[in-house]
Amino acid sequence: MQKHDEMAQTLQKINAIRQQQEQVFKMAKYYAVSEETINTLLEQICFEVSQIMKCQRVSIWLFNEDRTRLHSQNAYNEETKEHTIESDFCIEDFPFYFEEIQSQRTLAADDIDGCPATREIAEKYFATPNQFASLLDACIILSSGIGGLLCCESRERREWNSFDRMVVSSIADMLSFLFDRLSRIDFEKNLHRLAFVDPLTEMGNYNAFLAQADARISEVDQNQEGIFVYMNIDQFIEIHSVLGPELADDIIRVVAERFLLHFEKPYHVARIAFDHFVIFAPYDKGGTKFKRKMENLIDKLREPILVASQEVYLTFSYGMAYYPKDVLTPIEGVQAARFALETSKRQTSRKSVGVYNADTHQHMKRTMMSEMNLRKGLDMNEFRLFYQPQVLCDTGEIIGFEALIRWQHPELGLIYPADFIELAESTGFIISIGEWVIRQALEQLKQFKQLGLHDLTVSVNLSPRHFLQHNLPVYLDKCIQETQIDPRNLLLEITESVAMERHEIVQQRIHQLAEKGFSIAIDDFGTGYSAFIYLQSFPIKQLKIDRSFIMNIVHNDKSRAIVNAIIQLGKTLEIRTVAEGVETQEQWDILKGKNCDELQGFYFAKPLNEEDMQSLLTRMKAENQLSLPVVQV
Ligand code: C2E
Ligand code: MG
Ligand code: MG
Repeated sequence: MQKHDEMAQTLQKINAIRQQQEQVFKMAKYYAVSEETINTLLEQICFEVSQIMKCQRVSIWLFNEDRTRLHSQNAYNEETKEHTIESDFCIEDFPFYFEEIQSQRTLAADDIDGCPATREIAEKYFATPNQFASLLDACIILSSGIGGLLCCESRERREWNSFDRMVVSSIADMLSFLFDRLSRIDFEKNLHRLAFVDPLTEMGNYNAFLAQADARISEVDQNQEGIFVYMNIDQFIEIHSVLGPELADDIIRVVAERFLLHFEKPYHVARIAFDHFVIFAPYDKGGTKFKRKMENLIDKLREPILVASQEVYLTFSYGMAYYPKDVLTPIEGVQAARFALETSKRQTSRKSVGVYNADTHQHMKRTMMSEMNLRKGLDMNEFRLFYQPQVLCDTGEIIGFEALIRWQHPELGLIYPADFIELAESTGFIISIGEWVIRQALEQLKQFKQLGLHDLTVSVNLSPRHFLQHNLPVYLDKCIQETQIDPRNLLLEITESVAMERHEIVQQRIHQLAEKGFSIAIDDFGTGYSAFIYLQSFPIKQLKIDRSFIMNIVHNDKSRAIVNAIIQLGKTLEIRTVAEGVETQEQWDILKGKNCDELQGFYFAKPLNEEDMQSLLTRMKAENQLSLPVVQV
């Protein structure tokens, strides 16, 4: 009969465990486990374990990270029917107990006072002596190792058998599963946070903004508009470098707070970089409400910010783009509003407000694309230098070459400088091109030297932007050093307009380069301002008389008079004159009669590609000197 009772009890226990497991499984499966629901679940488990195990107190504990403390998660007292959270258990107070519970699957103490591992508990923990007689603990094993305990305490003395141990451990395993799931959820939450929240300000980040604006856009109906705003703090980089990164972060935090206080749904705001904030707002017809909102925001943002006991005053600039007029998606919206901001900042760098303009953007995109093409051309080694001989006017003897750039485009064929120099100049890429030209020209001079042609010069054309660039002298020095070329053999051509435009700076630069030994030539002379006076103060080596005068020199008296004046001016100032674009013997004869120093033009030779240049050099070397034009047989 007794055996029969025991059997019934065992079956009852097994049933209860199974039911519990199923419940836990369902909760885990449907994500019902969370920080909010876990406590109720733990209470339920403690209660049920107390019923199954016929224990007066059941509690659940979790270790801290280094397993020196146990934090109570829930404790159920069957006599008072109360759930409590107990105070922590520390390793210093219960060293033996801490060691024992981590060294075995279950710790069963039939007699708490008598068992060495639990005696400490009876002495230091129980409120009244002999409060509990027996104790059975099972480890909760997490993926990170032993994570906690399920603890059953009985008032009556018990002799725990292996079935009791098995029951408690299998419930502890369910708890393992629950806690692991919980930490996984926590981990996922953190990941999600990291992906959508800006850690510095707790504001939404770019991802969050895109998602929110996307959801909002789908709600905006046909008759309504939306507006994207891209805003940043004026001169924040300077503020950052003056105050340092920490105080700059403080400023960003205050600005973010003001943003958050000012905007609530249906507005969406986010910090997407450094000092860059974005807003998406519904836009009422006429925009009165929105404009008021922005004015208020700016007023609020302009209030001083106290950092390191000093007041910082900020100003802001922003750009705007409209949905659906300008853009259709949040990504486009952010880009377009940013473009509007940058374009307007080019005019005024503070407090500027820009509205997106699709035409300007298109133009800019095209320029960018072509510039990228140019960049590719340089990277792919598609540029070539052609060399046009320059001869002495008296004899036709070659004394130098002008290097002229060409772009050997793989699809478009040979492209002349007129078709790409202006673009390169406007985007600033001309500097890279110019540096490449200088380098090539010096390599050519090196070859002349190796062939024993020491006196030949090479002239390169420098764009105005490159000529005034701060790094030019340093770059030239570096190349001269590397190639070991006498700077006197390299002529730098600048146009007359550059020389006039920024007189002081140009004068300084010309002096600086002349001191280093480089020769400066004024190209296309006579087409610009022709303010001869400035020539007096510039150490100039050469004046290149523009082709337009040479072209007409035979039939046009005025052209002839101008050429004459320029040559005379050169004589007075001791500047050599070079006539450009000489195409006929007649032109040469006139120039000879006027004592022009040097000539350059198709009559003598067209700009030569590498191959033609090589054969010319071979001839020059063989004949020691070569006079042009060479009558080709
Ligand atoms: P430029 O410096 O005045 O160069 C002379 C231009 O006149 C060259 O045109 C040359 O081929 C052409 N030319 C020479 N002799 C004659 C002639 O007898 N008749 C005719 N009709 N034309 C002649 P190209 O090579 O097309 O260069 C045009 C301009 O592009 C150059 O004018 C120069 O301002 C610029 N350029 C050329 N290479 C470079 C470079 O490497 N960098 C920069 N920044 N500009 C360059
Ligand atoms: Mg030139
Ligand atoms: Mg010229």
